[in-house]
Amino acid sequence: MRLAHLWDQSACIGCGACIAACNAANYGSSTRENRTWGWIRSNIRRITFDLKAKPYMLLVQCQHCDNAPCVAVCPTGASYRDKDGLVKINPALCIGCKYCMTACPYGARWLDDETGLPMKCMGEECQSRVAAGLEPVCVAVCPAGARAFGDIDDPNSEISKRLASGRIIRLLEYKGTEPKFFVRVGP
Ligand code: SF4
Ligand code: SF4
Repeated sequence: MRLAHLWDQSACIGCGACIAACNAANYGSSTRENRTWGWIRSNIRRITFDLKAKPYMLLVQCQHCDNAPCVAVCPTGASYRDKDGLVKINPALCIGCKYCMTACPYGARWLDDETGLPMKCMGEECQSRVAAGLEPVCVAVCPAGARAFGDIDDPNSEISKRLASGRIIRLLEYKGTEPKFFVRVGP
């Protein structure tokens, strides 16, 4: 089993519902800041830039890399790749050294300045939901159907079917991280 995320950029309406839902579910709608990103306490970040003077938006979150640098550098085993394919943090083992934050080429981790520990997708609430057979909140709330989550080793899963149609890219693939956050960029 390899659980993965898909974000359909061509269907996304940029409403930010997934970002807000992550904040509410995993961080109790806390108004405290995610200072690492200058953002709300959410594991999803919106990045905008101009591409040949055309505005472009990406949603970036943990890519649940199959070859994860954050796992490789973690000195205690707190960052680990679980048997479901998701990369997780065991807070009981984390010493807050931040090696994982430095190693992640996606900047997908942020520091909780209250606990001194790194945070990232999946948050605790989303892990509980997935364990119960539910979708992560970002997928569940998306009003545009721009997100999917599931097992890419199962050819009958919705995510596998959506991966088989349309043009798919993976971010910073050349880094060799084998990311499992798939971006659908075209019809
Ligand atoms: S995106 Fe970053 S935090 Fe997530 S698995 Fe890959 S290296 Fe680790
Ligand atoms: S909730 Fe869906 S449509 Fe809204 S920003 Fe997130 S992915 Fe895009």
